[in-house]
Amino acid sequence: MPSGRVHNLINIAAYSVLAAGVLVASRAGLVTVTPVQALNFTLGFAAGTFLLSPDLDLAEGRVDSKRHWGLLGALWVPYGMIFSHRGLSHTWVVGPLTRLAYVAVIVALVVGLLRTFVPDVPLPGIPEPISLKFLVPVLLGYYLSQWLHLVADGVRPDHGMRRGMRKLGR
Ligand SMILES: [Zn+2]
Repeated sequence: MPSGRVHNLINIAAYSVLAAGVLVASRAGLVTVTPVQALNFTLGFAAGTFLLSPDLDLAEGRVDSKRHWGLLGALWVPYGMIFSHRGLSHTWVVGPLTRLAYVAVIVALVVGLLRTFVPDVPLPGIPEPISLKFLVPVLLGYYLSQWLHLVADGVRPDHGMRRGMRKLGR
């Protein structure tokens, strides 16, 4: 199983190859990628590589992807305790969603606490509606980063949901 640093290098290398390919293809008029789409894809990919790695399931200990969060890394300890290493967290479809949902729960908790105890604090609103045009490239980048991690781990796309669930419930 590759270390966090090796995972990062693999993802950066794959991103470079993909970016070069897309650049060549768009010069040749084969694909059209707007700068905003490219930026959103890159944001999703970078977040998935450096901040939301599947190995956060080890966050109860010391792990590279937790370190990237700095002090906030402590917020991932419960995630590491809930999810066993390479269980549900390392499935192809649900695994990446568990980390998005976890972030959403943390954000909701923080916002809820702020609203309760500091009602006057100005909170940034969500630009509505979040358009699909924005979300699709972000999710593509995010999922691709996660899948590269799973491929490097040798985890197959059929890595059992059942097995993951059983481990989750251990
Ligand atoms: Zn892993």
